[in-house]
Amino acid sequence: MTHVDLQSLVDDIAGEMAREVVRGKVADYIPSLASVSSDKFGITIIDHAGDCYSAGDAHSPFSVQSISKVFSLTMALGSVGDALWTRVGREPSGSPFNSIVQLESEHGIPRNPFINSGAIVVADVLLASYKPSEILGEFIRFMQMVAGDDTIHIDKAVAQSEQATGFRNVALGNYMRAFDNIVHPVEQTLGTYFHFCALSMSCQQLAKAGRYLMCGGRRHPGTADTIISQQRARRILALMMMCGHYDGSGEFAYRVGLPGKSGVGGGILAVAPGIASIAVWSPGLNSHGNSQLGMIALERLVQRTGWSVFRSN
Ligand code: GLU
Repeated sequence: MTHVDLQSLVDDIAGEMAREVVRGKVADYIPSLASVSSDKFGITIIDHAGDCYSAGDAHSPFSVQSISKVFSLTMALGSVGDALWTRVGREPSGSPFNSIVQLESEHGIPRNPFINSGAIVVADVLLASYKPSEILGEFIRFMQMVAGDDTIHIDKAVAQSEQATGFRNVALGNYMRAFDNIVHPVEQTLGTYFHFCALSMSCQQLAKAGRYLMCGGRRHPGTADTIISQQRARRILALMMMCGHYDGSGEFAYRVGLPGKSGVGGGILAVAPGIASIAVWSPGLNSHGNSQLGMIALERLVQRTGWSVFRSN
């Protein structure tokens, strides 16, 4: 692979993104997301050596939203292992993130852990392992540990807005309860899920948090500091590749060729296994609910670095 100066690369990409005119539509279902300017753009790359390259608004915290589903899944696999898969599938959905339609034909089993219904089940699974009064603290501690940053927190105002407006999620929770695939009180499971979505992180913190996925489950390469097994890290990456961008997952795989997970706050975490953990953020979304500029930025990044899980030379 040709040597690329990663700092110049992220600076160039941030400059190019500042000039883009079509910036997508900022999520407006809650005020704290609707009020974020679509002018924002941030990018951070952390390479295998742990060196960090940032540009634009890489240090501004934003609402992580569905990207939190990668981390709640990691915790749930750590708690119950492969038993999780009796309650959630591993197939791409091809439907919007908050769709209820497939739940009926599939008897209350969500297609995958990265759509809302799947992540609500994951929250319910975690409630069996942690006391309700401890689960959010455990989640935050996990995030702080994987990112090596104890300032990471949940934005309470976002969590309250999610709770006040999350009628479709309440419907999903109750529907799955009817199939006995939610076993805790629905309000408790949803309260946990809404707080996970309200996690607030910057690109730099998110790229750091994604390092264990770049490093085969280890927080730092070449150490015994293991977050999850190598096999599990690979499998989480496989799910990110197939299901990480809602019904735009195929498009993301085609254009970017890396496992990734997006959120409606405009963030994307992408991983080049063994090479880099990358976070981008720009709040304007495309028609599938994925960051418009985030995808373009990642597409330019892989064009210029050659990073791809499909690379053959
Ligand atoms: N809080 C959002 C919801 O549950 C998350 C959406 C997302 O980022 O996909 O509807």
